[in-house]
Parts: sequence; C-alpha cells; structure tokens
Amino acid sequence: MTVLETRGLHLAYDRREIVRDLSLRLPEGRVTIIVGANGSGKSTLLRGLSRLLPPRAGTVLLDGTDIHRLRGKELARRLGLLPQTPIAPDGVTVRELVSRGRFPHQGLFQQWRPEDDSAVASALAATGTEDLSHRLLEELSGGQRQRVWIAMALAQQTEVLLLDEPTTYLDVTHQLEVLDVVRDLNRQRGTTVAIVLHDLHLAARYADHLIAVRDGEIFAQGTPDEVITVETVREVFSLEARIETDPVTATPMVLPVGRDRRTPDPERISAPERTTGTERTEHTPDIDPADEREHHDQRDEHDPQEGPMNTAVTTQDQFVTTQDHLVPALDHSAMLAFDLRVVARRELGPSLVRMTFAGADLEHFGTNSHPLDLRIKLIIPGPAATADHFATVRPDAMLDPEIHADWYRRWLQIDVEDRGWMRTYTVRDQRAACHPGNLSDLPEIDIDFVLHLEPEEIPGSGVAARWARDAKVGDTISMLGPNRHLVGPDYGGIEFRPGTARTVLLVGDETAVPAIGSILEALPASISGHALLEVPDGADQQRIPTHSGVQVTWLARGDRPHGELLDAAVRELMSENAQAFRDTGDEVAHAGPAGSHTGAADGAAGGAADEAAGPEELEDVDIDATILWETTTGHGSFYAWLAGEAGVIKTLRRHLVSELGLDRKQVSFMGYWRHGRPEN
Ligand SMILES: Cc1cc2nc3c(=O)[nH]c(=O)nc-3n(C[C@H](O)[C@H](O)[C@H](O)COP(=O)(O)OP(=O)(O)OC[C@H]3O[C@@H](n4cnc5c(N)ncnc54)[C@H](O)[C@@H]3O)c2cc1C
Repeated sequence: MTVLETRGLHLAYDRREIVRDLSLRLPEGRVTIIVGANGSGKSTLLRGLSRLLPPRAGTVLLDGTDIHRLRGKELARRLGLLPQTPIAPDGVTVRELVSRGRFPHQGLFQQWRPEDDSAVASALAATGTEDLSHRLLEELSGGQRQRVWIAMALAQQTEVLLLDEPTTYLDVTHQLEVLDVVRDLNRQRGTTVAIVLHDLHLAARYADHLIAVRDGEIFAQGTPDEVITVETVREVFSLEARIETDPVTATPMVLPVGRDRRTPDPERISAPERTTGTERTEHTPDIDPADEREHHDQRDEHDPQEGPMNTAVTTQDQFVTTQDHLVPALDHSAMLAFDLRVVARRELGPSLVRMTFAGADLEHFGTNSHPLDLRIKLIIPGPAATADHFATVRPDAMLDPEIHADWYRRWLQIDVEDRGWMRTYTVRDQRAACHPGNLSDLPEIDIDFVLHLEPEEIPGSGVAARWARDAKVGDTISMLGPNRHLVGPDYGGIEFRPGTARTVLLVGDETAVPAIGSILEALPASISGHALLEVPDGADQQRIPTHSGVQVTWLARGDRPHGELLDAAVRELMSENAQAFRDTGDEVAHAGPAGSHTGAADGAAGGAADEAAGPEELEDVDIDATILWETTTGHGSFYAWLAGEAGVIKTLRRHLVSELGLDRKQVSFMGYWRHGRPEN
C-alpha cells in the first residue's frame, strides 16, 4: 500500500510561512480528514502534499520517493487531487471531463482502451452521474458538478486521493452523498484518502484518522474520539462546545454553546454529561448509517406563534418553517417514531420480563427481514413532559427535510425532564397483524427487559428497568425504529452478519439474551456452533427454539461477579476449538477483501490471522468514556458475536484477539452497557 508522508515540511507563499516543520504520515488505506479554522493552513498542506506548492524546506515522500522527483504522469497515476475550485474548459461534457481522469494512464501510442471505458463507467456509477454524462458541465448545479469532479478523480484510479473541501457549496444531502462515495471508494479499493473539511460533525463521522491543524502545525491527531474534545474545539476553532455522541454513527458530535443559548443547569446534567475531553455521554450505536439523510428534527408540529416549542430550547428562528417545505415522513425518514401500547407482560424469570406491544403504526416498522438482533430506541418519558418531541416522524406526519438531519442535537437541547431518556433495546420478536400468536388485531412486537433494580432509585438512572417493572397492560411508550418502506435487510441496526460462516459463537449476558434468542430462532439447520448465555439466576433460563445445530449453554451467575462464568466458559470452549477457528481466519486473510469492520477501535492494523505478525496487539478502548463497538461482516466459515457489559466484552476481546489470535474480521464485539454508567 502506498505511503504518503512529510518530513520537516515548511510551506510558504512569498515570505509568509503557512506550514511549519510538519512531519506526518497518512495512514494507508484509511480516510484522513484534516480540520482547522480558516487560515490554519489545512488547504496549503494539501497543496504541498500534491506537489502544487513546492516546499520551502523538508520533503513530501510517496513510498519513500520525493514527489518532486517523480515524473508528472507517474505521480498522477498514483496520486489524485481534487482542488477546492477546479476549473473546467468551456463546452466540456460530463463524460469528457471524467474521461480526462484516464489521461495519466495513456501512453504516447497507447490510446483509449476498454479498461478506460470501464473506469469511466464505474466512476460515473459510483457518483450517480451516469444520467448526466451527455450534459455540459456548465448546465449542472453546484452539487452535480462536484460529483462529476469526484468522478474524474475516481476514474484516475490512484492509490492516494486528496480532496480539498469537496462539500463546499453543497446542501446536506449532497454533502453526505459525496462523502459516502469517497468512503465507499476507500473501503472497496483501499485507496488512501485525505480530505480537508471545515465541518467538524461530518469530519468526525467520516474520518478514520483526524488531524486538527492550528497555525500550520498539527494540534492533535488520532481517531475522532481522541481528537474531538472540548479542548481541541476550543483551541483550534475558538469555540466553546459540548461533545455528545452522534446517534447515527456513534462518533463524537460537537454541540456549540452559542452566546444566546441557555446554559444547562449543572444540577440537571447527569454525571457523565458534565465531562469534558473525550468523554461522551451517549451510547447510541444507532440507526442505520444509511439513515443519516433521513433523520428528522425534533420539533413538534407546532404553530410558531404559540411561542417556544419546548422548555429548554430558546425561541429560535430556525425552527420556523412554512408548510411548503414539508414532506411525508414515511417517504423521507428511515427512522420513524412508533406509538406502542402494552398488551401483555410476562415474567420470563426473576430478572427478565417480556412486554408485548401492539400499535397500528407498526405496519410501517422493520427491515422486511427477520429482526435478528435489531436494535431500537425506547423513549422513557420524563416527569415534566410537555409535548410529543417526535411528532414529525410519526408515520403520518410531515417533516422539513432541510433540518431533520439535526434532530438528535435538537432533542438533546430539550430539558431532560421534558424530553425523557433514550434507551436501546432489541426486538425479540415481530409479528404482522393477524398473526395467529397475536393478542390483538394489530401488528405486535416483543421486547424483553432486564430488571436490574438497584436498591436506591437515582433520578435519570435505571429509568428503563423501572419503567418495565411498573408497566401495566394499556400503558404506552414511544419507540424509534426503522421505516420498512425505506430500509432493507442490510439495515445498520442489525449487527449479526455471519456472512458465509457455518460455525457461530454467540456470547452474551442477560441484556443480550433477547438478541441471541432471536438470532437462534432464525438460524438454519446448516449452522452449528455454541451459544453461551450468562443470566443472574438459574430460573432466568428459557427454552429457545432453533433449527440450527447451535448448542446452547446457560450459566447462572448467582453471587459471582458479572461475566466470570462467561469468561471461563469462553476460555474453555476456545481452548478446544481456537485452532480450528484460527485456521478459518487464515483462509480468510489470504482469500481477498476484508469484511466491513467498524467501530471504536477500527484504526488497528489488519487481521490477527497474519501469521507473520502473530496475535494482534490490541489498542485500548476506554470503556468508561466511549463505546466498545467493533462489528464486522463475517468472512470464512467461523463468525463470533459477543455482547453484554462492556468490561466483560473487553476482556473477552483481549482473550480472543490478542491471546488466541482470532481474526478480528470474524468477530463482532458490542458493549451493550457499562457498569456504573447510565446509557445517557
Ligand atoms: C444494541 C443493544 C441492545 C440491547 N438490548 C437489550 C434488551 O433487549 N434488553 C435489555 O434489558 N437490555 C438491552 N440492552 C441494554 C440496555 O440498553 C441497558 O441495560 C440500559 O442501560 C438500560 O437502561 P436503564 O435506564 O434501565 O439503565 P441506565 O440508566 O442506562 O443505567 C443505570 C445504571 O444501571 C446499570 N445497568 C444498566 N443495565 C444494567 C443491567 N442489565 N444489569 C445491571 N446493571 C445495569 C448501569 O451501569 C448504570 O449504573 C441493549 C443495549 C444495546 C446497546
């Protein structure tokens, strides 16, 4: 893989030095995003990296060779640059422009070849510009034009791609579209990408590696979790902000504390929310990343003349909209809010209760496939609720597409006593209306709640468990979940992705029992393996029907520490089988492209099955500050899925990956909750 790095780089315009003594290396095959305030030197750096600006001192090396020593065409075959305001000749069509991306690949005598055609076609397809291919560039909108420029850069098929503010002048939908295209390119081809971006929120979402530049120097670099801190935002952008977790991608989200905003009452903020630095308050590895264009804002359907919409958000002009902008939520939001009514409750054991919910709106819910470990959000109402803060994403509602992407940030700004709490649960079962097992005429879902009832009731803590303890038939609650008209089986809220695996390992504590139960019911007879389930009490064991050959082992915790039995059982099982699982990992590692591997610790090197490297040295995940969430689509014949208390899962991760050398591309690790830490 190609390495682009700088050593002691100084860049200047005339006598004004912009970049000073900068040494950096772009992580190979990753997306690096460079952020910084206006004039910080980030675009200058990109120009230096691409040879547009010769260094005053120092070097830029491409695989160890000074880029200024490479011949132009050779460099262009390996390194592509999309400048901030590219200039096109007049009268050029989209196809002609994109075809120019192939020039570096053509020799003096070697003219257009079929592979050039296919490179252009795939670049047009990747950027959704095929339909524009015969149009003149000047006829296009800013967003369309930008996509065409990116298509040209893609057609160049370089190992390294540098993009300077590719989303400037684009509306939010096109910004996301452009960045999705670039990230897909990176994931599919392993292209090393560096992007200069001014939008911190998008930078955190799309970066594997983030570089914050201040006054021509690197102020901070690392994963978005490491870089996006209160201090960095203050120092680099001169902005006071809070850092929350983006509910769509679980990446950090900057909430500017504007001059006119009401400062939250410290007494009202739960302990983790008072944190600074990299600590984050939310655990919302939420709704499918594909939803990001679909999220709504959290306004009520509200007459602006009635005054402020809710208690914590000040009166804001941006909330005022006209009916002209509104579109049906059902057509535009991949996430909908569903009204649920409890139609039954059944104690499954001393620690688990099954609530059956019915709702007419549930006909719009789901992914058009088995729910497996499908996660949803329940909104536990606050004691001072004033309004339905999800009114715009009810299935029959209208929303404003311009601002609905910001819904979570707005929801967070509402007084917690009013908005309530968001908690993550699994859909244990889903039944259409008229299913023979239904208790009502309506579609139904089951959700199993762990009753972790601490002796002392702390406001804002344990709210979901207490709600489940007290809920009676006839009670109602709101749920956020996928809109089945817009999402399919590849929905990101399902993590169980065994790929081609024939042997599975399912490991979980009581919070993961609903997910494992649902998965087991769906598995076909061709799948075998083991499920290890630790529950508080022997009486919490359930009978889980499965067609599969998966052997289910229940472990009753009793007075032992959480996870002790699970840990021992996994170790014992792996001591008998690790070699077999590792061998399948080796097959995979040598077989071809990796699975999608996402999450907090995604920055690590490739699979542990690399024999030369031996077991992988894992990077640490601070489970008290962030989410342990590494999920993957299985490749090869073995796939493992582990979920539960984050500390327990972290220990198992170390055992499986570092000690036993299992390929991380075959294992999904999910911290479902963390001891001593409410979900948000
Ligand atoms: C994808 C996903 C799916 C999940 N599915 C389910 C599910 O189907 N059923 C289910 O019951 N849970 C499930 N969970 C876990 C659930 O979200 C958490 O347990 C959540 O914290 C419960 O909210 P709460 O308001 O009761 O407690 P919080 O207010 O979040 O936490 C209060 C305190 O209780 C502790 N705590 C939280 N959960 C537990 C627990 N289970 N045992 C002991 N102490 C605990 C916390 O550490 C904290 O100190 C899932 C989590 C995720 C991420």
